[in-house]
Amino acid sequence: MRFISTRAGRQPITLSQAVVQGLAADGGLFVPEQIPHYTLEDIRAMVGLPYADVACRLLEPWMDEFCPDEVRAMVDAAYRPGRFEDDVAPLERVDAGTYLLELFHGPTLAFKDVALQFLPHLMVACLKKQGAGGALVIAATSGDTGKAAMEGFCDVAGTRVFVLYPDAGVSPSQRRQMVTQRGDNVAVTAIQGNFDDAQSAIKRLLADEGFKARMQQAGWRTTSANSINIGRLMPQVVYYFYAYANLAARGDIAIGDQVDFVVPTGNFGNILAGEYARRMGLPVGRLVCASNANRVLTDFFQKGRYNAARPFYKTLSPSMDILVSSNLERYLFESTGRDAGRVRDWMEGLARDRRYDIGDALAGMQRIWAGSADDEQTAQTIRQVWQQNARLIDPHTAVAMHVLGQYRQEGGVQRPAVVLSTASPFKFSAALYDILFGKQLEEGAAARELALRCRLPLPGPIAELERLPVRHGGVCRVEQVAPVLEAWMGVGA
Ligand SMILES: *Cc1c(COP(=O)(O)O)cnc(C)c1O
Repeated sequence: MRFISTRAGRQPITLSQAVVQGLAADGGLFVPEQIPHYTLEDIRAMVGLPYADVACRLLEPWMDEFCPDEVRAMVDAAYRPGRFEDDVAPLERVDAGTYLLELFHGPTLAFKDVALQFLPHLMVACLKKQGAGGALVIAATSGDTGKAAMEGFCDVAGTRVFVLYPDAGVSPSQRRQMVTQRGDNVAVTAIQGNFDDAQSAIKRLLADEGFKARMQQAGWRTTSANSINIGRLMPQVVYYFYAYANLAARGDIAIGDQVDFVVPTGNFGNILAGEYARRMGLPVGRLVCASNANRVLTDFFQKGRYNAARPFYKTLSPSMDILVSSNLERYLFESTGRDAGRVRDWMEGLARDRRYDIGDALAGMQRIWAGSADDEQTAQTIRQVWQQNARLIDPHTAVAMHVLGQYRQEGGVQRPAVVLSTASPFKFSAALYDILFGKQLEEGAAARELALRCRLPLPGPIAELERLPVRHGGVCRVEQVAPVLEAWMGVGA
């Protein structure tokens, strides 16, 4: 399998080149040259298999630069017991026809672990194939990617990880999880600005030839752990197939039945993996794109106009407080029949005017249904799901549950729906405690009280947060990112 850029007629490159590079030189994102296809028989053969086995079957064609034994070793290392609780992606029934796909049972309690426990193994193997020395992995985070990247790459020889998060743009637990991260090869700093500022700073560094040359001279290839890296996307396709096989194993669907997936969306990485799953042959009915008050994607899928020139809101679901959703570019590429010229025009429009209009190309994109929930609706949904279904859900999952309600009402569809549950509720304890019990507590106390009152075990990674020493600090301005990073790497301008 080779990979091409969404903006180019450039030469296809190998997986190891694409993973090590992160972003294409023309600013585009890498996509597979051909999308592998699975028949219903192939899918039937996945029913009842452990997560790692499904992962191998799906990853092998993308990773044919490596032999199946190497793929197996990477998958086993990523999903071994002890890293994830019993199951990587348990499927919980909420009521007839509604399921929660819980993707937060990894070490940092967010779905980002599914890809970021795998990426370090892949990255190291790709660096070796490339004969490259070390990798400097830089990432912007809206709260969960940063921690998951640092945890995944912690003490992985030949790698260093530098994370930027928006000051005042993450939950108290998310921040604490990051600033207490151990490992000599990782660093995190806050920036004055929001996630979009952090992500643009990263993209600028990845496109800065001078910066990259200085790093390379010191033996470091600069790359990204954000979902712009194709190595993040591939492992996320797996749980769509796994959930589908799980529904079939329970007898709740027959192989071939269509299933809808509802995805709380920020940078469009998770839902894009669902789109690739569909293109790979999984019987996906609709993908439902759920946004919070930053409803730039809702407007886009309803009107065909992307407009990031709008107020930015801080919401209860901070990991979705994003106005420039990078992976939408891959979706545009695929759903225009791979029209790189148009994608380039739209992305140039976005960079220049913060907006673009796809006009009648929207008609080809109606397989995505989009809706949004504001904070009041999110809180209401959290209360309702707790009272009616005795399930505690985090605010991101609640946004998706609310939008599922809208979709069922307005779309009038009655297919089984899988809601992707992207974070543990305990990452947002203070907010949830206030919503459910009407009292404001400091984060640590809120987590303990929430566990008691909801009769749930307090997850270990949250319980230990207050005891861990703070190892990272500092806030910098966007312009200071490069010098701060170079100082940390010991590489001078
Ligand atoms: C990152 C994140 C999202 C958004 O996922 P994208 O792939 O960026 O669309 C949703 N919920 C949580 C909890 C997240 O951490």
